[in-house]
Amino acid sequence: SVDKEKANTVAKIKVVVRKRPLNKKEMAKKEEDIVTIEPHSNFLTVHETKMKVDLTEYVEKHGFVFDAVLNENVSNEEVYSETVEPIVPLIFHRTKATCFAYGQTGSGKTYTMQPLPLKASHDILSLMHHNHRNQGFQLFVSFFEIYGGKVFDLLNDRKKLCMREDGKQQVCIVGLQEYRVSNVETIRELIEKGNATRSTGTTGANEESSRSHAILQLAIKRSADGTESKPSRLVGKFSFIDLAGSERGADTTDNDKQTRMEGAEINKSLLALKECIRALDNDRGHIPFRGSKLTEVLRDSFVGDSRTVMISCISPSSGSCEHTLNTLRYADRVK
Ligand code: ADP
Ligand code: MG
Repeated sequence: SVDKEKANTVAKIKVVVRKRPLNKKEMAKKEEDIVTIEPHSNFLTVHETKMKVDLTEYVEKHGFVFDAVLNENVSNEEVYSETVEPIVPLIFHRTKATCFAYGQTGSGKTYTMQPLPLKASHDILSLMHHNHRNQGFQLFVSFFEIYGGKVFDLLNDRKKLCMREDGKQQVCIVGLQEYRVSNVETIRELIEKGNATRSTGTTGANEESSRSHAILQLAIKRSADGTESKPSRLVGKFSFIDLAGSERGADTTDNDKQTRMEGAEINKSLLALKECIRALDNDRGHIPFRGSKLTEVLRDSFVGDSRTVMISCISPSSGSCEHTLNTLRYADRVK
C-alpha cells in the first residue's frame, strides 16, 4: 500500500538539535550566543572560549552535523513537521514510535515537548475519521513519570506503579490509567492535569521535574471485530518523553544522599537509552533494555518496527558551553 511504501522512507532514527533564544537572564549577565547555524543547513558550530597557560583567551570551534539543526527562529509547528508528523501515519501499521527531548535543565525540553502529543493526537484523530473510518481504531492516552527508578501515574494522583513483563516481550505497567479519547480538547485537559501533577513536588516545580522522566503515550488500539463489543488490542503507539535534565546525571557526588542516588539513576538511564538507540541503529539482535527502568518501560518500543526521534535541546549561551557540548556529544553518539 501507499502507506507501507511511505513507511520505508521515514528514517528509523533521527537526531535533531534545537537551539533556543538567549533569555533575559543570560543577556543581563552579558552572556553571548556561542552557537552558530548556517541557514538551511544541518551544520552547527559551538565557539568555546578557552584560556592558554599565559591567561590569554582563544576560541576553539566545535563543528557538528545532525539530521536537522533548528535555530532559535524555528516555531513549535515547524519542530512538529520536522520530527513527529511524518511518523504519525505509521502507527496505524504497527509501528512503535518514540520522541525524546534531551538536554540540560532550562534548555527548552518541556517547551519543545509539550505541544507535540497534542498536535499528534489531532492528526491521529483526523486520520481515524478520514482514512480509517469504520475500522474500529481507538485512541488512548496515558501519562506517567519515572523518578528515582520508580513509576508514578500522572493521571492518577501520582500513584506508584509496578511493572510486569509477559512472555511476549510486552511490558505492562500494572494499573496505569489509560483514557480513551475522541477529541483534542479532552487530550489537552489530560496533559494539563498530568503536568500539574508532575510539578507539585515538595521542592518546587523546576527542581522536581528536572529529576524525572515524563512519558506521555498515545496508543492506537483496535477491537478484534472492528466494533466495540470485543476487547481491543494494541496496534501501534507513540511515546513522548521529556527526559530528566542531563546535568542531573552528574549529581553523583552531591552531599545529599537522596540527590546522589537520583543522580546515579538518571546517569544510568541516559546511558542505557543511548546504548539502546545505538543497538537499534545497528540492527543488532540484542537490545540492552535492562540497563534502567526507563529503557525497560520502553522495551516494546525498541523491538519490531520502531521509529525514534531524539530532539537535543541546547542553550545558546556562553555560560552553558560545557553542558551544550555534552548534549551535542551525546546526540552525536546516538546518531
Ligand atoms: P527544560 O524543560 O529543558 O528545563 P523549558 O522548556 O522549561 O526547559 O525552557 C526554559 C525556559 O525557556 C522557559 O521559560 C521556556 O518558555 C523558554 N524557552 C525554551 N525554549 C524556547 C524557544 N525555542 N523559544 C522561546 N522560549 C523558549
Ligand atoms: Mg522541563
